Amino acid sequence: MNDTKPITVTPIKVGELRAVEMPIYVHVVDHPAGRILVDTGLAELHPLIEDMQPIIEPLDQQGFDLDSVYIVVNTHLHFDHCGGNRLFPKARIFVQQQELDDARTQPDYTIPEWIDPPSHKLNYVPVDGDVELLPGVRLLSTPGHTRGSQVVAVETLDGEVIIAGDTAVWSGELDEPQSEGQRRIVSLRPSFVWLSHQSEPYVPASAVTPGS
Ligand SMILES: [Zn+2]
Repeated sequence: MNDTKPITVTPIKVGELRAVEMPIYVHVVDHPAGRILVDTGLAELHPLIEDMQPIIEPLDQQGFDLDSVYIVVNTHLHFDHCGGNRLFPKARIFVQQQELDDARTQPDYTIPEWIDPPSHKLNYVPVDGDVELLPGVRLLSTPGHTRGSQVVAVETLDGEVIIAGDTAVWSGELDEPQSEGQRRIVSLRPSFVWLSHQSEPYVPASAVTPGS
């Protein structure tokens, strides 16, 4: 019996930054080997981000089983991508070494205690460049939005799907790619690209069926 299941990608909205009218999404990758969570959104409020007027819809209050996640990937460590990291003390958390270094040393980069909570140590796995995380799931270095940004490339039944974090903050950036990371995403010719702050994925023009 062949019980190999396809790899799937599912977006989950975890909040909103009202001041800039941006929803915040994380993405769940269900792989035969287990569940991967890409970015962790926001899990609590913080005085430093009051001016963004955040609304939070934490994963653990949406009936999401936190224990089902065995790997977390941070595309980068801005506050709206790592705010829920502390909810995953048992998971391995994959992030680029450059990103971890920058977030821990540069002022006003993020909310430091959301990366390294005082209550417990998180299991960061710093990586340098491209890595095959599991068969069909790769981490790809995509500098631009931050020096240490990475995206997740997933082989699905729909073809290659990219989870881009903020490497592109909105779809139009991929129509006219400027950064090294954006150019790399386009060069992969993905079927579609999930962004952190849009409800619908970006579909490259080349992937649209003519006449439809
Ligand atoms: Zn960002």
